[in-house]
Amino acid sequence: MILILLGPPGAGKGTQAKLLASELRVPHISTGDMFRDHKARGTELGKTVDAIMASGGLVPDDVTNAMVKDRLARPDVGGGFILDGYPRTAAQAAYLDQLLVAMGRKLDRAVSYEIAQELLVDRMSGRRSCPKCGAVYHVTANPPRQAGTCDREGTPLVQRDDDKAETVARRLTEYEAKTAPLKRYYSEQGSLSEVPGTGTPDQVLATALRVLGRTR
Ligand code: ADP
Ligand code: ADP
Repeated sequence: MILILLGPPGAGKGTQAKLLASELRVPHISTGDMFRDHKARGTELGKTVDAIMASGGLVPDDVTNAMVKDRLARPDVGGGFILDGYPRTAAQAAYLDQLLVAMGRKLDRAVSYEIAQELLVDRMSGRRSCPKCGAVYHVTANPPRQAGTCDREGTPLVQRDDDKAETVARRLTEYEAKTAPLKRYYSEQGSLSEVPGTGTPDQVLATALRVLGRTR
C-alpha cells in the first residue's frame, strides 16, 4: 500500500506513520527525519537545510524531491511505503505523481489528519524525542516512564529546535499557505481521506485502518 500522510505540524503524522508502518509492514519514510539525520551526521545536505529548518521554512522543492527520489529507488519500497511530511507543496505533489508513473506504481490514499489549530501548539511544545532511537513522546499526553528519559534507550530526551514557540508560528503559516491546498489536489484525484487526529493514537489508527479498508 502506498500512502501519503497529510496534516499540520503536530497533527500526529509521525506517530501514526510508525503505527501504520508496523500494521501494514511497509517502510515509514519521513522527510523531516531524513533531514534531521543529515544534520546530525553533518553532511553537505544537512548543512544546507539546517538554517531553513531552524527558521520553520520549507526546504527547496528540488532538494527535497531529489532526496525522495533516491529513497524510493531502494528495494524495500517494493511492497508499498508511507510518506510522512512529503509532499508539502504543489510542486512536490506534481513531482511525486510523475515519479510514481515512472515507477509504474499508484498512490492508494492520501490520509489527512484533521485537528483544531489550538491543540497543535500544545502538541509541538510538549513533544520530546530520543536522539538515539527517534522515539517520540509528549510531556503530558504520552510521557516516558521516567520524566525526560527514553524508555528504550535510557537516553535524555531532547526538544526539537523548531518546536520552540517562535518557530512553531512560522511552521503553521507555511502549512496553511503551501501544504493545506494539497488536500484539494488529492480530493480532486479521488484519493483523499480525512481522519480526525484527536483521541488516543490507537483510536486515530483504528479510524485510519477502517478508512483504508483494513481490519486488525
Ligand atoms: P507530526 O509528525 O504530525 O508533527 P507527531 O506524531 O510528532 O506529529 O506528534 C506531535 C506530538 O503530539 C508528539 O509529542 C506526540 O507524542 C503527540 N501526539 C501524537 N498523537 C497524539 C494523540 N493522538 N494524542 C495526543 N498527543 C499525541
Ligand atoms: P512536523 O512533523 O512537525 O510536520 P517534519 O519533521 O515533517 O515536521 O519537518 C521538519 C522540517 O523539515 C520542516 O519544518 C521543513 O523545514 C523540513 N521539511 C520536512 N519535510 C519537508 C518537505 N517535504 N519539503 C520541505 N521541507 C521539509
